[in-house]
Order: sequence, then structure tokens, then C-alpha cells
Amino acid sequence: MRTALVLGAGIMGLSAGWALARAGFAVRLLEQDDVPNPRGSSVDDHRLIRHAYGAHTGYMRMVDPAYGAWDLLFREAGERHYVQTGVLALAGSTGSWLPASRAALLADGYAVESLAADDVAVAYDFLRSDGIADAFRIASGGVLLARKIVDTLARLLRHRGVPIERGRAVSVDAARALVALDDGTTRSADLLVVAAGPWGPRLLPGIAGRVRPTRQVVVRLAPPPDRAEAWACAPMLLDLAENGGFYAVPPVAGTPLKIGDHRFAATADPDGPRSVTPAESDAILDLARHRIRDLERYRVVSASACWYDVEPLERFILEPISDRSWVMSGFSGHGFKFGPLLGLALARSLSDPSIAAALPGWAAGEAAPPAGLLDEITQDQMA
Ligand SMILES: Cc1cc2nc3c(=O)[nH]c(=O)nc-3n(C[C@H](O)[C@H](O)[C@H](O)COP(=O)(O)OP(=O)(O)OC[C@H]3O[C@@H](n4cnc5c(N)ncnc54)[C@H](O)[C@@H]3O)c2cc1C
Repeated sequence: MRTALVLGAGIMGLSAGWALARAGFAVRLLEQDDVPNPRGSSVDDHRLIRHAYGAHTGYMRMVDPAYGAWDLLFREAGERHYVQTGVLALAGSTGSWLPASRAALLADGYAVESLAADDVAVAYDFLRSDGIADAFRIASGGVLLARKIVDTLARLLRHRGVPIERGRAVSVDAARALVALDDGTTRSADLLVVAAGPWGPRLLPGIAGRVRPTRQVVVRLAPPPDRAEAWACAPMLLDLAENGGFYAVPPVAGTPLKIGDHRFAATADPDGPRSVTPAESDAILDLARHRIRDLERYRVVSASACWYDVEPLERFILEPISDRSWVMSGFSGHGFKFGPLLGLALARSLSDPSIAAALPGWAAGEAAPPAGLLDEITQDQMA
């Protein structure tokens, strides 16, 4: 039986481990922290999945297969951690993201409902409608309950005999599929997958020039009682401005309402503090004051920092780095939704060199899926 070592137990490492074990590999994972790891990019109440993707049609077209991969995972785990909310996209100017999303969605046959500012005011009385230049609503999309998913996936792997070892890698020898740990020991396997999230550039010099870790602040809120009911059935909100804007995740399944910044923050050490200052928290709230009515009446539940691994054009890096090693990196704040899909795709590619050769272009959102890649995922869904 071929062996695989996966470095990192965030959504990417766990998904790769799951898919490789399904494909017949004897898998082990290595993780420097607890799992779920609150310092990892994957661990928070929520992560969003949506078809609206601006002009990135490659990623828009990966969303349906991503749903298929989630269905497969949830079915195998016997737990389903997803709440559909739909998407409300707003733009305060004639920027390009919203019209590009609408055009791409319509071209691929998705039902998109365009809204005028007055429609928004009527449907969502907790929002201010002034300054809305463009808006649409789409029924698909929703919230993946990320912390629960990571926990479920880790339990599923352990149940299937996949060990998750606690240990910190200090270097990677990709050619030998070998990892050196800070206690002086090494681990190796036939295949190595490095899925170290924002720590990836530190371990792989070849990635360091292409990916940078950034510290993103999010603020969790409790709406005032008279707004709670409206928020409980609200769509995810993407409010786009010329210089970024904000997103809001509605308070589904007992989680708080969450607001974050669309822009990439400054590069920062992923071992830095997760706590944030009141000024950092206020800066996020300031992005939303023009849109969320009476925001001063909302109670701040908590605020924290979480790291992105940013590739400048937001293209994922799912590439071989030797004959025996692959890297998963560059997820740039939009990778979670694709974790199980990318894991399955990697495992599939290892049995087919033509799929393996085409995988990096597809994962970068720049090419159609290689023939045969998604067939197996669909067959799995139907099994
Ligand atoms: C605030 C925020 C909001 C986001 N929103 C969305 C969203 O709405 N939708 C979406 O799809 N995506 C979203 N993302 C992006 C998504 O969460 C990430 O792309 C994804 O979680 C990356 O997963 P990962 O497994 O690569 O990284 P991680 O979850 O960080 O996992 C990497 C793991 O590797 C371990 N590791 C690293 N170095 C070592 C080492 N030397 N030795 C041993 N272990 C090591 C780490 O401890 C960590 O647990 C968001 C991210 C953030 C931060």
C-alpha cells in the first residue's frame, strides 16, 4: 500500500487526507497545534460558499462540483454542517465586480434577481439603501459551519485509522518526501502533501515569492432584539465599494453575525497575536456603518484576527513540487469552500498523469477541468 504524509490539518490537509485514504493510501497527518486549530485559517464559526465570483468564471464553475464534494463528505460523515442563505450583492458605485458577477452568472444560466435601491430598503429594513448603485440577489450560496466541519473531518479520519500526529515541521525535503521536526526526528512517505496554510511560505522557499500571509480582522456582533429576527433569515451580504467594502455573515445556527473586510491586509507573521485592538475592531465596523442601519446599537461579541495566504491574483496553488510532493497554497481568503473538492481532485490526479498535468491550471481558476476529473466526483455522488 502506498503511504502519504500530509503536513497541516486545516481544511486542505484534512480534505487531502480524507481523499487519499479513500483512494487507498495509508495516510498520516502532521499538525503543530490542536485540531481544530484556532490559529489556522480554517477555524472560525463560518466560511461562505457562493457562485458570485466577479469575472473569475473558473472559480464560479468550480462551485457546483464543490457542492458535490461537500455532499459526499457530509454523507460519509453522517453530519451536515451547512446553512443555505443566498447572496445579496450591493455596490455603491459602478465598480466592475458586481456587473461581472451578474454577467457570468446569467451566461451560465443561474437565476439572478437584480434589485433597485428601493427594493433593498423594502426587503431588508436593517440596511440603509442610500448610495446603492447596483444590487442583485441569488438564491444559491450559504454558510459552511467551519469549526464543526474541521472537527467532523478530523474525527472521520481518526475513525478510518488515519493518525493526526502533533508535531512541528521545521523543514521540507520535497524530493525525498521527507519532513524534519523541531525535536530532531523526521517523517517521510511515498507521497508528501504540504498544506501549511499561512505558514506555507516559511517552509517552502519556492512558494515564499508567490504567497504572503496577511492578518485579517473580523468582528462578531449581536443585533439588537428588534433586528434579530430579520437577521436570522438574512442572506450573506457582499457590500462592495471602490476600495474594498465589507462582507457580513448572517447569524445562522446559533453563531454570531460576523463582519469582515474585503481587502487584503498587510503581510504579517502567522505566529502573531489573534487578539485585536479596539481601534482595529472599530475600523471594520466603520466599513459597515454606511450600510447597516443603527450599527451603534449592535453589541460587539468578539473580534479577532485570522490569516489569509494571499496569492496576488487569488489563484490557488495546487502543484507538484517534486516527483513525490505536492503543495496546496495561495488560497487568498476564498479556499475553504473548495477544500473537499481540491482534496478529491488531488487524489484523482495521482492515478492519472494527464489529469495531474492539467490540475494546476484548473486549480488556478484558469482552465477547464481536465477530462475525467469531475466524472469520478459525480459518480461518487451518485453511488
Ligand atoms: C477571516 C477569514 C475569512 C475567510 N472567509 C472565507 C470564505 O468565506 N469562504 C472561503 O471559501 N474561504 C474563506 N477564507 C479562506 C479559507 O478559510 C482558507 O483558504 C482555508 O481555510 C485555508 O485552509 P488551509 O488548510 O490551507 O490552512 P489552515 O487552516 O491554516 O491549515 C494549515 C495548518 O497547517 C499547520 N501547520 C503549518 N505549519 C506547520 C508546521 N511547520 N508543522 C506542522 N503543522 C503546521 C497549521 O497549524 C494549520 O493548522 C477565509 C479566511 C479567513 C482568515
